[in-house]
Amino acid sequence: MISVRGGQEHILAQLAAPVPAEVVPVTRALGRVPAVDVTAPFDVPPADNSAVDGYAVGSADIPSAGTRELAVVGDLAAGAVFGVAIAAGQALRIMTGAPMPSGADTVYPQEIVERTGDRVRVGPLAKGVNVRARGEDVEAGGIVIEAGSLLRPQEIGLITSLGIWQLEVHRRPRVALLSTGDEVAEPGTPRRPGQIYDANRFTLRGSIEQCGGEVLDLGIVPDVREALVRSLREAAGMADVVLTSGGVSVGVYDLVKDVLAELGTIDFWQVAMQPGRPFAVGRIAEARFFGLPGNPVASMLCFHLFVRPALWKMGGRTRLDPECVTATAVEPMRKRAGRREFKRGVLRFTDRGYEVSTTGPQGSGILSSMVAANCLIILEEGRGDVTAGERVLVEPI
Ligand code: AMP
Ligand code: MG
Repeated sequence: MISVRGGQEHILAQLAAPVPAEVVPVTRALGRVPAVDVTAPFDVPPADNSAVDGYAVGSADIPSAGTRELAVVGDLAAGAVFGVAIAAGQALRIMTGAPMPSGADTVYPQEIVERTGDRVRVGPLAKGVNVRARGEDVEAGGIVIEAGSLLRPQEIGLITSLGIWQLEVHRRPRVALLSTGDEVAEPGTPRRPGQIYDANRFTLRGSIEQCGGEVLDLGIVPDVREALVRSLREAAGMADVVLTSGGVSVGVYDLVKDVLAELGTIDFWQVAMQPGRPFAVGRIAEARFFGLPGNPVASMLCFHLFVRPALWKMGGRTRLDPECVTATAVEPMRKRAGRREFKRGVLRFTDRGYEVSTTGPQGSGILSSMVAANCLIILEEGRGDVTAGERVLVEPI
């Protein structure tokens, strides 16, 4: 049986080049990943400009003590340029963001001066204050966003502030998604006795979309060998990744592994973890294959641990490691040594630092434990039972 780390490394090592790039407008670039570095075509800001509404002056006119009167020679709104140099004894009324006129290097905020008619009375002030320097945000030619980073609203805004309106991003990895099981029914349709409604295809759909993938929904496949063969062939022909849930355990109707071995190759199918031990990884033709467990918590967890980093890497992302913190366990937790266990937890920041408790019953079919959770508590392989007060590793989700 492979370890969680071993499985993750194996999966990532198998993925060669990311999916190809396409050009999209910035309005469709949120959540996407640039395929090339984005560089600044000019300095940002492009000119020295005022950081406040006030009066621009030459620093030679700043009194070291007492006050001085200066002549207000004009009024400059953001978006305009003042073409005349500010001379000794003069000040220019200036708005936030307006470019500094030549001859001025300091701005008095309007709140600290006294304006009378076309004169303004000013006091001592540090030279150069309230001016945003040309290029202080980004210098021309500099890399503003590295290839492989995730485009969030702030990255999009920085890109448009450079006048750029379209860019090259990786296309979304395509994921063919299906549920397996005779007992699984489609929500919105009647449920026969003994059936359960499909949860996994919908948690997984959301998870795929959240990590930048495109979902190709192939519905529910019964535990019938020929049906599974047909669906997996079709899936592999249309997607970069084939994702199933259910049917990977050791039951009589758990056909996914057999069909995978027939159509493609199995890399591994058991991971030393809890929940989520039965989990099949391999490939069918050109597509990567992930057969997730049927239990809803286990399938979400396996997606999180193994499929998410794979989709990120295929989608061109370079940073794949989750952000974790340590917290004090406020309750004891059962843990079997030799495997990695994941409890659903509630993480709180208190005046004693981070504290974490479990959400209660931890069965791998109890999806409400994921709903109640804001973190996973990660108990490493070497560890045994946890007593209250011990420090544990936590990953916010
Ligand atoms: P399996 O590995 O196929 O035996 O499934 C393990 C457990 O997960 C069984 O109780 C299944 O009924 C349940 N299960 C399988 N697929 C789904 C699904 N799509 N949604 C919710 N539960 C499921
Ligand atoms: Mg099943």
